[in-house]
Amino acid sequence: MRIEETSFFKEAIRFIGYGSSFGWHERNAGNISLRLSENEVASVKDLFDSSRDWVLLPYQVSEMSGEFVFTTVSGSYFIDMHNASETKFCICEISADGMSYKVVWGDLKPTSELCGHLMSLAELKKRNGGRAVYHCHPANIIALSYLLPLSDKAVSEAIWASETECAFVLPKGIGVVGFNVPGSTKLAKETAEKVAVFDIVLWAFHGVFSTGNSIAEAFGLAHAVEKASEIRLKIMSSGYKETNTITPEQQKEIAEYYGFDLNSF
Ligand code: 13P
Ligand code: ZN
Repeated sequence: MRIEETSFFKEAIRFIGYGSSFGWHERNAGNISLRLSENEVASVKDLFDSSRDWVLLPYQVSEMSGEFVFTTVSGSYFIDMHNASETKFCICEISADGMSYKVVWGDLKPTSELCGHLMSLAELKKRNGGRAVYHCHPANIIALSYLLPLSDKAVSEAIWASETECAFVLPKGIGVVGFNVPGSTKLAKETAEKVAVFDIVLWAFHGVFSTGNSIAEAFGLAHAVEKASEIRLKIMSSGYKETNTITPEQQKEIAEYYGFDLNSF
């Protein structure tokens, strides 16, 4: 089977298309990764080239030992992803000691955020078996990072109070990472620490890093947070003081109704 015929490839193309149509992927903004299942690996393994070199990672990802990760190629323009799509993805094998990766299919230059993806996929695997990460640059949540205190508590509470969906879509809230150089190992490390607790992380002044069991799920979470952020920003820039809100008690009531505990900070 060609990689382009697999359902994971088609799902990636579809959601990258949706994100692009929402304006979340200017230029080469954004990257995704998926830890492939045994069946997915088996369906494409005969296409792998294992003669390529191992590349040392800045951090060990022992949990990812022997895994294969499908990811985007650095510099790919997401708005044009469907065009020559086979050149814009690659598959990386993680070494047995979790210290290195090797590109076994596709372009040799995975996303510059690879380290953050791998460290976060390792945390996800430990935490709930999740296997997808979706990173994008949506304008409203980025704008909020200039206005709200950069704490998990402040941003989570602002999102929960903005739309009733949020208390049960993200009952843990949103983790917040302050300014970091894109693609840096510091950003990767701080993000993975947040992914150990939260399903979605705000990268201040940059974007969101969302996780899930599938690309669709990770995308959906980013979509919900961005919509709530748009509402919050409209309220904050309206020039009016809020007359009503979703109170903390009501947020808790929503989460509990759907069987979740709202994170208390
Ligand atoms: P890449 O093109 O290297 O994936 O970088 C895009 C990006 O959004 C960096 O955060
Ligand atoms: Zn980015």
